[in-house]
Amino acid sequence: MRWGDQLISGDGVGQEPTLPGLRGLLRSVRTPEFAGTVFHEVEARSALNEVRGPSPLPFRWTVNPYRGCSHACLYCFARNTHTYLDLDAGHDFDSQIVVKVNVARVLEKELRSRRWRREPVAMGTNTDPYQRAEGRYRLMPDIVGALARSGTPLSVLTKGTVLARDLPLLAAVARDVPVGLGVSIALLARDLQHQLEPGTPSPQARLDLVRRITDAGLPCGVMVAPVLPLLTDSADGLDALLARIAAAGASGATVLALHLRPGTREWFLAWLVRERPDLVPAYERLYRRGAYVDPAYRRALSERVGPLLRAHGLAGGVPTVRPPAPPPEPGGEQLSLLPLPAPGTPMGPPDG
Ligand code: SF4
Repeated sequence: MRWGDQLISGDGVGQEPTLPGLRGLLRSVRTPEFAGTVFHEVEARSALNEVRGPSPLPFRWTVNPYRGCSHACLYCFARNTHTYLDLDAGHDFDSQIVVKVNVARVLEKELRSRRWRREPVAMGTNTDPYQRAEGRYRLMPDIVGALARSGTPLSVLTKGTVLARDLPLLAAVARDVPVGLGVSIALLARDLQHQLEPGTPSPQARLDLVRRITDAGLPCGVMVAPVLPLLTDSADGLDALLARIAAAGASGATVLALHLRPGTREWFLAWLVRERPDLVPAYERLYRRGAYVDPAYRRALSERVGPLLRAHGLAGGVPTVRPPAPPPEPGGEQLSLLPLPAPGTPMGPPDG
């Protein structure tokens, strides 16, 4: 059933359509500070999500306090997950945000289980935990606190400057558990950012966030993702971006080419047809095999990026966290936020 018929009282701001089929739904609200956005507040039954089956990712567990993301990146690979809610992968993904209001309480309970092995938990691998909604709901402090109290390493990848609010907490818990922080910055040009990432903080604001994280004593990596063929992939453009990232104090960077999975593909290509029809034949050729860019393009990008990463001292990739036990590996407690290939090798995201 499509949503839209049933009405529920909002946050004192009138009535909003709700999602009748959404499990655990408490209410759907709209607030003046978030024009055009509806928050569907739900009681989640679980908080820890296991990455099932064979996976190249170096973590098996994630926590996602939100579904949908107001950062609204056209290229977001998570778009298709909104169709499971009977919402669309386009504008609904950007504006119909599911909020798991009890996520920290449920997480705390799950972390107390004897079966919990304190494996690293990654956040920002599906939707962004520090998207704008986090300013309203403040779910992350309790999530971070619960993970730290249980001795669980954690990592966060984000585009959201709301993270700066929690830096004192993150710096404090980093004394007890490994903490890995990454900021995602795909491009510098404001016109492209407005078009492709309309809900995100500016690239400069994210560079400032990198600086604030490192000033707080925490290493911070940057995901340069996705690199958009023929739009943001020139050697000069990447050189300028990596120079700014290095100047902001990042400890490393990982560069990833665009993936176009179902849901994302349609949304992104609709923009391309509208704004850059001249590039459509090239994209059809580069993505003719499906979600992944042509291997020859990946190799060429890798060859272009590797020397730039080394020149800017960013070849270490995104900082990593490893489980505290057992057994600790020589050289510190670190496990990657994302699979880190040889320095400079572009690979597929997730993103925050
Ligand atoms: S790419 Fe990341 S920040 Fe952008 S919409 Fe998706 S989850 Fe949000």
